[in-house]
Amino acid sequence: AAKEAGGNTYRFFRQEMLERTTRRLTLEMDLRRAISNNELELHYQPKIDLASNTVTGVEALLRWRHPTRGMQAPGEFIPLAEENALICDIGAWVIGEACRQTAIWRAQGLDLKVAINISARQLETGDLYQQLCALAHQRGIPPSSLELELTESALMKNPEGVTGLLNQFRQAGVRIAVDDFGTGYSSLAYLRRLPIDILKIDRSFVLDAIADEDDAQIIKTILALGQSLKLAVVAEGVESESQAALLKASGCDQAQGYLYAKPLPGDDIEAWLTQHTHSVTS
Ligand code: C2E
Ligand code: MG
Ligand code: MG
Ligand code: MG
Repeated sequence: AAKEAGGNTYRFFRQEMLERTTRRLTLEMDLRRAISNNELELHYQPKIDLASNTVTGVEALLRWRHPTRGMQAPGEFIPLAEENALICDIGAWVIGEACRQTAIWRAQGLDLKVAINISARQLETGDLYQQLCALAHQRGIPPSSLELELTESALMKNPEGVTGLLNQFRQAGVRIAVDDFGTGYSSLAYLRRLPIDILKIDRSFVLDAIADEDDAQIIKTILALGQSLKLAVVAEGVESESQAALLKASGCDQAQGYLYAKPLPGDDIEAWLTQHTHSVTS
């Protein structure tokens, strides 16, 4: 009987593996098709300057409008795409689409800096700089209207290897932000030497900053680090007035979060900006 039970466990395990592999392959094929079927879109979340309460730019965030499963957040498909070269095709689409939207806003007189999230694998392809410049040129926008967000872990994977690339972007006026800062293992020596401009405090620290003194302290430490390295600091995931007040009192420059706006389709940004500007000045 014991042997039988073991056999069942084995069979069950195999069945589960098979299902997982099938799901993965289906998702991968679906995702490849998504690009050519125009199922991907970018939504944009404003960043707010806390001192002046003005908008400093927007972050482009990927969405997948799946024909049967509905709107998919990047957490549900980016990790899979990052396991192979698919992320580079998606990444190229994201850069091109962000350039297209930036050009539309500029034609409307909106000079918004648009931040793009870049995966570790895209940094390794070797032609990211040429790719971004070509796509920006195609839409008639200067590369300097774009900003890049690289996670702390992506940067620290090979800090020496990416320095040259980051310098190229820097020289073209493309600012570099370190995303999800505080969750990786930054070497302070590298952090000081890397050509970066912005630290983005990870949402997890902001989430509990009011209730948890440790998280509030981590935020203050990141702010002090930003100040000594002369980097701008942006707090992610600000949802309440009390979080915004704490950040402002601690000397944080900028914030981003549902308190101000959720990520919005490109077409809705202009209306949001009009409303936001109104509420600030009135
Ligand atoms: P991220 O770059 O750190 O983006 C911030 C995430 O926090 C976004 O989730 C955003 O919608 C969410 N967020 C913003 N404010 C709040 C808030 O007040 N409360 C809460 N609970 N969440 C908030 P999203 O859009 O699901 O993106 C998740 C991650 O997926 C991003 O984290 C980024 O790492 C990745 N990602 C998104 N778009 C792209 C892309 O085009 N390319 C690459 N490579 N990665 C992307
Ligand atoms: Mg980001
Ligand atoms: Mg982040
Ligand atoms: Mg994140």
